[in-house]
Amino acid sequence: MMDEFDMAVTPFAQPHTHSYYAASTRYNVDHPILEESIEADICVVGGGFSGINTAIELANRGFSVVLLEANKIGWGASGRNGGELIRGIGHGIDQFTKEIGEEGVAAINRMGIEAVDIVKNRVAEHSIDCDLVMGYCDLALKAAHIRELEEDYESLQASGYSHEIKMLSKEDMPSVIGSDRYIGGMLDMGSGHLHPLNLVLGEAVVAAELGVRIFENTAAESITKGNKPVVKTAKGQVTCQYLVLAGNAYIGHKLEPHIGGKVLPAGSYVIATEPLEGNLASSIIPKNMAFADLSIALDYYHLSGDNRLLFGGLCTYSGKDPSDITAALRPNMERVFPQLKGVNVDFEWGGMIGIGANRLPQIGRLPDAPNIFYAQAYSGHGVNATHMAAKVIAEALPARQNASMCLPG
Ligand SMILES: Cc1cc2nc3c(=O)[nH]c(=O)nc-3n(C[C@H](O)[C@H](O)[C@H](O)COP(=O)(O)OP(=O)(O)OC[C@H]3O[C@@H](n4cnc5c(N)ncnc54)[C@H](O)[C@@H]3O)c2cc1C
Repeated sequence: MMDEFDMAVTPFAQPHTHSYYAASTRYNVDHPILEESIEADICVVGGGFSGINTAIELANRGFSVVLLEANKIGWGASGRNGGELIRGIGHGIDQFTKEIGEEGVAAINRMGIEAVDIVKNRVAEHSIDCDLVMGYCDLALKAAHIRELEEDYESLQASGYSHEIKMLSKEDMPSVIGSDRYIGGMLDMGSGHLHPLNLVLGEAVVAAELGVRIFENTAAESITKGNKPVVKTAKGQVTCQYLVLAGNAYIGHKLEPHIGGKVLPAGSYVIATEPLEGNLASSIIPKNMAFADLSIALDYYHLSGDNRLLFGGLCTYSGKDPSDITAALRPNMERVFPQLKGVNVDFEWGGMIGIGANRLPQIGRLPDAPNIFYAQAYSGHGVNATHMAAKVIAEALPARQNASMCLPG
């Protein structure tokens, strides 16, 4: 896996990983390699959710945008993840009250909820074909998890959360899941699941329709900072007014050490069973929800559009994939659903999530180059948060007609 993220900045571009998602794409997205010297208001590096949605937000505001992707659009975590679209940013942020105050905590909580709406609206507005289904349940394995969920529940109620939420006791669990592993949970109809590669590819189609010039198999190899940053690639270059770095865990250390050093790549892995026949699918997941437990190296899972169980988990920091992902994940899957013993696993894959020191997403500008922005480090909770990061960056830029007046001297 280490090879893969270093690969992002080599000339040897990679095809999509062999995932269930890559085998079931509904969008044929192909863009050329950059082979000339071009100019744009904005250059975005990275063709995952962060980069593509930043491009959409900025093109919608009238900027000319070029996007460079080292491999294929959605090649990174965005095209490989568990597909769980969950409110919030994944961590208890109350612990940061001292630093950002209660209003700061409340604002981040609101953003974590709005981030889900951004995805839902984008899917609805552009009819993106990505199997979006609402319905999610947090799962408790021990009493401390129940207390955590009760706090979440109360804080969501107090904030006026507009979707159905419900605490579930052990006795309630069979109504949502065919497993006796959990002692309770919290149902949330404002979160759900989707096919992430189809989402990011569908969004790339939207970006292209808005006039974003997308280049694949085109790694940003170096940046020259200044009033007009220049991004060099193997065969071309982009001169821009603003640069957005959205390579997350795959950005490596060479392109811009200030951000590369702030994000720790960690591996997470998913297996996809064969389509489950008869009533097996509805007996393990009767309401087609997504699930995740509250452990650190958590299990997360849901059914695909064609009734496979997509089961994710593990967490590696070594930079190396397990030699046999299915062998590593199958026992976890069968611990949750003993009914699936003997079911074939058709696909296995992994990807890199980017973890920040305090586990909060990092969105900002380079200290020595205020016209260079970055967004990264969503940990395992980026499907919604990337879409919010894109909006935050777009809102931080001056309006299009004033863009050149606001550049640093
Ligand atoms: C296995 C797995 C399961 C996950 N499950 C979930 C989940 O269920 N729910 C959830 O919310 N989140 C989940 N996540 C996290 C989520 O997928 C990520 O937070 C999110 O996709 C990050 O998107 P991104 O665009 O920032 O980065 P990425 O999608 O990784 O995109 C970065 C892109 O930048 C490109 N790049 C890097 N360097 C360069 C360069 N120099 N030049 C050009 N291009 C470059 C890469 O090739 C890559 O395509 C999971 C992640 C993984 C790996």
